[in-house]
Amino acid sequence: QVKEKGRDAIEFFNEDMADKVSRQLLMEGDLHRAFEDRHFELCYQPKIDTESAKVVGAEVLLRWRHPEKGLISPGEFIPVLETSGLILDVGQWVLEEACRQLKSWQDQGIWQDDMRLSVNISPRQFRRRGFVDDVIRTLQQIPIVPHTLDMEITEGVVIQNVEETIFTMTTLSTQGISFSLDDFGTGYSSISYLKRLPVAALKIDQSFIRDIPHDRNDRVLVETIVAMGRLLGLEIVAEGVENETQLALIRDFGCHYYQGYYASAPVDAATFVQILTAVEAQTTTA
Ligand code: C2E
Ligand code: MG
Ligand code: MG
Ligand code: MG
Repeated sequence: QVKEKGRDAIEFFNEDMADKVSRQLLMEGDLHRAFEDRHFELCYQPKIDTESAKVVGAEVLLRWRHPEKGLISPGEFIPVLETSGLILDVGQWVLEEACRQLKSWQDQGIWQDDMRLSVNISPRQFRRRGFVDDVIRTLQQIPIVPHTLDMEITEGVVIQNVEETIFTMTTLSTQGISFSLDDFGTGYSSISYLKRLPVAALKIDQSFIRDIPHDRNDRVLVETIVAMGRLLGLEIVAEGVENETQLALIRDFGCHYYQGYYASAPVDAATFVQILTAVEAQTTTA
């Protein structure tokens, strides 16, 4: 009886796993074709100054325009890109495409020299031998204004090899690239890295921001992260700000910048330009 049950359980488990693996393989094939057929696109989410409400930059976010399923969010496919290694090619494409867009905006005078465009870099991409060379070559081919490109890395990047991470970051810093620590607070013991890594900014994960209007513990956490970050001389960015109450709180805490639906969801390049020029018009007539 017990044995019977045990065997069923194992079969069930195996079927489940096989199912998962085949779905992963299917998606891997789809992603390969999507990359070849250029079905990936970039969208841009403005980063806003909590005091002046000015746009200080943007984050580049990847989208997959599926012929039948429509626009697919990275949460569903980044993990597959990462495990399959496809993230190396797609990530390099994202970097190049973001630099081309940035340069075009700079050439048109839309993008101010004190604004930064942030690109997400996956752990596997960051740790790849040759990553630094690829980035330097990209900047040679697409000469953007120095100090206008930022890279968002997560604590997952750091964990593996701190010395190597510091070396990569320092080398790229000399190319004018700044670094932001993304999803801050969700990973491991981030605090000890903070004083060693050459990061310019901390991005407080949206899971901490969500409940600050009614959760005292989250309020204390966010206020403490902001205070600590500021004392360390870092810029602080709040992610996922969706309403005025959250914005008022983080502004009171001294958080410099925010992103979130309250200001704007990620939008396509044309819409982002509209946002930029609308804000510009507003501030010049004010
Ligand atoms: P992330 O870098 O932490 O990006 C923030 C995510 O929060 C984005 O999801 C954004 O659309 C979403 N978001 C922004 N404002 C709000 C808000 O007010 N409320 C809520 N609920 N969500 C908000 P998205 O675009 O689905 O991206 C998810 C994750 O996928 C990103 O998290 C990032 O880790 C990864 N990702 C996106 N693009 C790339 C890429 O080009 N390369 C790599 N390696 N990873 C990427
Ligand atoms: Mg990010
Ligand atoms: Mg984040
Ligand atoms: Mg996140």
